[in-house]
Amino acid sequence: MGKFELPKLPYAYDALEPYIDKMTMEIHYTKHHNGYVTNLNNAVAGTSLENKTIEEILKEVSKHPAAVRNNGGGTYNHSLFWTIMKKNGGGKPSGKLGDAINSAFGNFDEFKGKFSNAAATRFGSGWAWLIVQGGKLVITSTPNQDNPLMDVADQKGTPILGLDVWEHAYYLKYQNRRPEYIENWWNVINWDEVASRFSAIK
Ligand code: MN
Repeated sequence: MGKFELPKLPYAYDALEPYIDKMTMEIHYTKHHNGYVTNLNNAVAGTSLENKTIEEILKEVSKHPAAVRNNGGGTYNHSLFWTIMKKNGGGKPSGKLGDAINSAFGNFDEFKGKFSNAAATRFGSGWAWLIVQGGKLVITSTPNQDNPLMDVADQKGTPILGLDVWEHAYYLKYQNRRPEYIENWWNVINWDEVASRFSAIK
């Protein structure tokens, strides 16, 4: 057992059906996420990074080997991703988060369109993000397993919502139809969790 642990999946593998299928979920969690955690533990073993949090490591990731960047990002990103989805999710956020989205993007549909576009146009493997940057909401995307906590990111901030657009996240069910996966994903978002992450920053 290494320092970093695979968090328990907060629902069953089939909980997000029909939008995210059971087999994709099981492989994504038990093989991909588990692999990032294992490889991160191997990469930090015997180094000073063993005593740091994942956030501390990502903040200065440019100083570390590529294995730390790739697997540290993969560990953090998937841990966030599982929590911001749930069975019977979707809808729109209300309260302070809903207000902040309306203020930053005009209205929810404008926000949804811009976020979906960031996810659809991320070339190759990567993630789309909603981040808090200096108190403001910003949409961005990153390649590979990078994220906005990293010092190498073009747009830095604290992620409160993220969408995995690696082919491993959707190919079994959607094949090359990434836009269809993105559109369906809005039905499983756990807005209570996103709002909780938002209020923890403000
Ligand atoms: Mn993934």
